[in-house]
Amino acid sequence: MIADNLAKVKSNIAETARACGRDPADIRLIAVSKTVDSQRIANAYDAGQNLFGENRVQDALEKIDLLTSKQILWHLIGHLQKNKVKYIIGKFDMVHSIDSFPLAEMVHKKSLEQGVVTTVLMQVNISGEESKNGLPPDQVQDILLRVSQLSGLQVKGLMTIPPMQSDPEASRKYFAELRQLRDQLAGQSIKNIQLDELSMGMSNDYRVAVQEGATLVRVGTAIFGDRS
Ligand SMILES: *Cc1c(COP(=O)(O)O)cnc(C)c1O
Repeated sequence: MIADNLAKVKSNIAETARACGRDPADIRLIAVSKTVDSQRIANAYDAGQNLFGENRVQDALEKIDLLTSKQILWHLIGHLQKNKVKYIIGKFDMVHSIDSFPLAEMVHKKSLEQGVVTTVLMQVNISGEESKNGLPPDQVQDILLRVSQLSGLQVKGLMTIPPMQSDPEASRKYFAELRQLRDQLAGQSIKNIQLDELSMGMSNDYRVAVQEGATLVRVGTAIFGDRS
């Protein structure tokens, strides 16, 4: 079942990309494996998926330990607290959820201590919902200018989570706004800052995200089924 679901999601991504003139190879699928046990992650891996997303540090670290024999890339997609940063350095290929300058500074400091550079995205609260983590759009430029001085982390792009709505079309304007913000910031050519990646789109709205320029889509339910 996981293999079938993966095939379906991948073909939807490819079809949507081609229909809007994009190269399917420019979109990476993150299989969001939060609440999914390591055996089922291994099943997905055996079906050809090597990129997984986790949202809770503790759960992720346990699975990473259990699956070290596999060539898996792990992305941390959930909120990161400053006091957890020390546990994640060197464990994740990308952290999607840098949402404050103090958090960026902590990642920088702990990365330097371990002699690594941590690859990150800046999480933006495009919708302005109070319940959502992420930087207000009008603060991203200022924070990028400061983050560009930090050698322990490498910014690769932006991430957002739109408001939960059943109609995938409702997400479109938020995805478009993230892309516009990215284009505007990329035009500033801030030193050491790369903005190629746009992490947006989940099970319900990843096709819309692909149409609006996503390079990373984060899909859980459509691959692993409902989370209990
Ligand atoms: C859970 C989660 C997803 C995946 O959600 P689905 O609707 O199951 O595809 C994507 N991104 C983040 C940040 C998540 O926490």
